[in-house]
Amino acid sequence: MGQSKHYMMHMQEVRAWASDVGVRAGLFTVCERHHLLSISDSTAEVKAYRIGNAMITSGEITDVDRLDLSDAIKKLFEQTAYDCPQCTDEDAE
Ligand SMILES: [Zn+2]
Repeated sequence: MGQSKHYMMHMQEVRAWASDVGVRAGLFTVCERHHLLSISDSTAEVKAYRIGNAMITSGEITDVDRLDLSDAIKKLFEQTAYDCPQCTDEDAE
């Protein structure tokens, strides 16, 4: 049980790195008002994997498996909208 809790926390860390890497790559932007991710340039996906790998190689990201990070970036990309969902809601009102 302790093992799976550790795994969950680890995956949260991997996810946080994935969003950080995505923002650096220009794949995502963070909404200034809501601090939510949106996709800024979907063509930067490959660049994000490259930056993530480079950050692991340089030791900037530690204790994270390359495949886990790539996977997390992919999932985050799939789950992220092109516009901040909160801003879209407010614009609709
Ligand atoms: Zn927003």
